[in-house]
Amino acid sequence: MSLLVVGSVAFDAIETPFGKTDKIIGGAATYICLAASYFYKPVNLVSVVGDDFPADVLADLEKRGVNLEGLAVRKGEKSFFWAGKYGTDLNTRMTLATDLNVLASFDPTVPEGQRKPDYLMLGNLVPDLQFKVLEQLKHKPRLIVMDTMNLWLDTAREAVLRNLRHVDLLMVNDEEARLLSGEYSLVKAARAILAMGPDFLIIKKGEHGALLFHRNEVFFAPALPLEEVFDPTGAGDTFAGGFLGYLAGTRDVSYENMKSAVIYGSAMASFVVERFGPERLMTVKKDEIRQRCRSFLELVQVDIRLN
Ligand code: AMP
Repeated sequence: MSLLVVGSVAFDAIETPFGKTDKIIGGAATYICLAASYFYKPVNLVSVVGDDFPADVLADLEKRGVNLEGLAVRKGEKSFFWAGKYGTDLNTRMTLATDLNVLASFDPTVPEGQRKPDYLMLGNLVPDLQFKVLEQLKHKPRLIVMDTMNLWLDTAREAVLRNLRHVDLLMVNDEEARLLSGEYSLVKAARAILAMGPDFLIIKKGEHGALLFHRNEVFFAPALPLEEVFDPTGAGDTFAGGFLGYLAGTRDVSYENMKSAVIYGSAMASFVVERFGPERLMTVKKDEIRQRCRSFLELVQVDIRLN
């Protein structure tokens, strides 16, 4: 059994209504790997950084069960850098800087021994790079999950559509689902996207939870109403890591089990937003995760009498 994650490992600078950070650790794959490693090990990572990326962070990832054989460290080059600023409601985000640096010439190479993954997470990345990973696979994984973003839907739509024919589950936010489908209603958007290839679709709605679509069925999980929300960066990636890590850990990719995975993904995401960057993901304990999943159950449980 194996889990492969592809995506960015980066430096981020974040500004929210509650404060501002200088360069901190970020990157979609960083969040995905950290979250997944609570449920499944090893997590095989394929990505690239420059030699400015802190060795102690890489050592910490390894200690958590993230296999770095597929992480290229480029001498004399800089890591990917992203800067973003959130509006007062934390739902709107403006990108202030995207310095591709090492990512500009990234040619993902999956190590020979990792080309038969059972679970694959294609984190948000240039769609052609996501496809290059698919081309290196030696068999069809049990589940391929793909993330993307509005930038690629605007600039590389055909490549996204091609990828969609090869993946099992697409994970996007509501705005991206509307952009991809051309439909405002999320139910209609889901129907249109499922017709593009994937069997499953997750639409993330930030503080309003997540929807899981499969054929004509839909499952909804709310997000926990949190007292402390500091920084939503990486919440979507953390959700993805928790979701796929849980499926891999339970070896069950059925729709029913995906409903539980959505709750675990949501629980992980509820932690990451409590601090800047991935800090909280590095300290959360398994007991706290369990407790938060219990809070999710309490949030939605109701004894309703139908007359
Ligand atoms: P999220 O908040 O889930 O959308 O993910 C935020 C993370 O995505 C940050 O840590 C960034 O480093 C990373 N990121 C932002 N833009 C890009 C991009 N164009 N390609 C790859 N990763 C990105």
